[in-house]
Amino acid sequence: MDPKLYERYSRQILFGGIGEAGQQRLLESSAVIVGCGALGTALANLLVRAGVGNLRIVDRDFVEPSNLQRQTLFEESDAAEALPKAVAAQRRLHAINSGVSVEGIVADVGPKNAEELLRGFPLILDGTDNFETRFLLNDVAIHLDVPWIYAAVVASYGVTLTVHPRKTACLACALETGGPAGNENGAPHGAPHGAPHGADDTCDTVGVLGAAAGVIASIEAAEAIKILLGKTELGGGRLVSRLTSFDVWTGRFQSVRLERNPDCRACTRNDFRYLEGEAQPHMTMCGRDSVQIHERRRQLDLAALGRRLAPTVAEVRENGFLLRFRVPPYEMTIFADGRAIIKGTQDTRIARSLYARYIGA
Ligand SMILES: [Zn+2]
Repeated sequence: MDPKLYERYSRQILFGGIGEAGQQRLLESSAVIVGCGALGTALANLLVRAGVGNLRIVDRDFVEPSNLQRQTLFEESDAAEALPKAVAAQRRLHAINSGVSVEGIVADVGPKNAEELLRGFPLILDGTDNFETRFLLNDVAIHLDVPWIYAAVVASYGVTLTVHPRKTACLACALETGGPAGNENGAPHGAPHGAPHGADDTCDTVGVLGAAAGVIASIEAAEAIKILLGKTELGGGRLVSRLTSFDVWTGRFQSVRLERNPDCRACTRNDFRYLEGEAQPHMTMCGRDSVQIHERRRQLDLAALGRRLAPTVAEVRENGFLLRFRVPPYEMTIFADGRAIIKGTQDTRIARSLYARYIGA
């Protein structure tokens, strides 16, 4: 290994589980993180510093002041500029380690684009904030036969599970209850029946501690590095899946061994309903009073749109990535792919009506 690289990663090379050969392998490895909030930023920071050679980060959102308490890659200037999180994260991570490749993609991962965005990566990492996307990631990972790591955090509590498709329990094995086919988790919002404590709560209702995200992201990062190094069979020669949870406020730690569900909807019956788009899309976002409209894929000229709207709306701002303006009491943020976030309502009819009026039907 190049002496400068050796020096940079020396403390990790000294660690017996990695060594020089392991470090070289990490530098040649790649992974994709979906979602760049509290978990995603902490995870990306650890992996980029560890020298994971090629990291893709996909996120649909932009930086706001309320993110700064826990989303460790972002700064006040990112929030002031309303930079997309994927763009702000890519810039910061490049400054942290210019020797690895980081690609930030501003997109909302959904059934239509999930395979395109995730294919080719040998590891998928969860930094999302909702169960619709997590079950979609579970479907994609099983369909593509790549490992993925589920992680979630709310309030002072976090949980994580590493999934090796058809070898260990998947997210559907863990969280979907049995019963007649097609009966489980039909609800478009909220957690499926049987989800662990905290799954019905969101950061919007009960808040979230940066410390909890840090613990879970650290466990997820260590699991990721083991998978990228091929060191997954530490549990006595066979893959074991454990649902691990930690509450930083009470200090309670749990690690429960999970077995596959022999009748699992996803990993046994190959019913990929989230990937096939049968489940309803997620419309209301975590952390604010907003509706996202994301089923429209159209290329918009944001600067031209901003000039056209300027006479009729208030506070038009455009930063090359998104266009934002106010139609009191609402605030609309439009991305170049036609996606929109309408703040100030949870009513999808109002959001659709505003979209049609200002952007087009
Ligand atoms: Zn399963």
